[in-house]
Amino acid sequence: MRTIGLLGGMSWESTAVYYRRINEQVRRRMGGLHSAKVIMHSVDFERIVSLQKADAWDAAGDELASLARGLETAGADCVLICTNTMHKLADIVQGAVSIPLLHITDETGSAVRAAHCRRPLLLATRYTMEQDFYLARLRGDFGLSPMVPDAEDRAAVHGIIFGELCCGLVRDTSRQRYLDVIARAKAAGADSVILGCTEIGLLIGQQHFDLPAFDSTLIHADAAVAFALDREDTPQSHAA
Ligand code: GLU
Repeated sequence: MRTIGLLGGMSWESTAVYYRRINEQVRRRMGGLHSAKVIMHSVDFERIVSLQKADAWDAAGDELASLARGLETAGADCVLICTNTMHKLADIVQGAVSIPLLHITDETGSAVRAAHCRRPLLLATRYTMEQDFYLARLRGDFGLSPMVPDAEDRAAVHGIIFGELCCGLVRDTSRQRYLDVIARAKAAGADSVILGCTEIGLLIGQQHFDLPAFDSTLIHADAAVAFALDREDTPQSHAA
């Protein structure tokens, strides 16, 4: 079994989901008392958010690159950035290490395409919904036509992520707000929903709506388990 490296803490509420899911899947696959070999660096999220707000992406990239090098030095065989938003910096992180970075957009885009969905609604932070690093990859590499909510709905989706879900608050009114956004997108032609922020699965899941749901957290965690147990990834196969 290979060792999984996690860059976590963004936020820790979702990193906890990764840790549980990875270990559950290893136990399911291997049985007995088997558990995953994991090395994690969990950051202070307040600092990362302050860099995001200051548009200091280069500094954030340097920081994540240095942490990824630390994971490699400590013995990780791959690295996962446990947040969609910080995949804006994925190329910088991959460039800093010789182990493969398992890219959350690629894993999620593959899952959407494999399910023959073409027009997913992307629910995420405003960075992920409004910048091009995620949407362009879904379009260019996976032939998808992703949709995003309108400006008012994007603000609500983003606000609930940082103001509630990252703080451990799960509110029925916010769940309904998300379901209203999904209903509007369905009426406008969405054929599926990407939970493109690692905390969104704490609020909504497949049980809450009838379009196919793609939870980036679970997909990414499962990719890590596949890598640890089966896959033959190389850094080159994940380079941009
Ligand atoms: N975990 C969130 C994501 O998947 C947001 C936290 C962050 O800004 O990194 O995008």
